[in-house]
Amino acid sequence: MSITQQITALKATLPSKVKLVAVSKYNPTESILEALSAGQIIFGESQAQELCNKVSELGKIDITQSPEFHFIGHLQTNKVKYIAPFISVIESVDSERLIAEINKQAIKNNRVIDCFLELHIAQEESKSGLSLDECRALLASGVKERYPNVRICGLMTIASNTEDESQIHNEFALAYEFFKEVKQEYFPQDDYFCERSWGMSDDYPIAIQHGATLVRIGSLIFGERQY
Ligand SMILES: *Cc1c(COP(=O)(O)O)cnc(C)c1O
Repeated sequence: MSITQQITALKATLPSKVKLVAVSKYNPTESILEALSAGQIIFGESQAQELCNKVSELGKIDITQSPEFHFIGHLQTNKVKYIAPFISVIESVDSERLIAEINKQAIKNNRVIDCFLELHIAQEESKSGLSLDECRALLASGVKERYPNVRICGLMTIASNTEDESQIHNEFALAYEFFKEVKQEYFPQDDYFCERSWGMSDDYPIAIQHGATLVRIGSLIFGERQY
């Protein structure tokens, strides 16, 4: 199926409240353009340099609908300044150091930057993100008040890469429970704190059963990535 057909088919199956982040990392700008013309607006990228190159290429083209970009990869603090002017959401925030830098660059650009805190729930060692206790400690320490140009709008997580579906169910269920705890504890009056970004090409139907409001789908739309 073409990119257009995949997006159309996916959107037909997603509940209306679940937003699609088309993960375009490692795919060319032409693929973003094709997805845009199919009505896709939100794109996910995981490398600052690659993202900036694409934004600059897109800037030279006359397009009616501008894309919105979510940053979903590991973000080094020294790269924040490159994406701060235009990024819609940074989904992969996992330290106070990064929050402080995003806040600083947001102020420089005279804006507030929406962020999600990334949780490490998967079994794999390599996956980045905060443990639940680290996340609790970060919020309890008052980052919300300390960094007013960072708006924490929700949580993001990646499930284990496993054939064991019950494991994936457990992980997304845990993330959803934790979201409710954090919402009640730290954001009860804040309507903006409402996003739950979980689910990728292989596990998004399970994520939707556990409260996902955004799914991040790459290879299912664009095909296998060429690294
Ligand atoms: C690459 C990536 C995705 C998309 O993965 P697919 O399996 O291609 O759908 C989603 N989320 C994050 C954080 C990623 O790095």
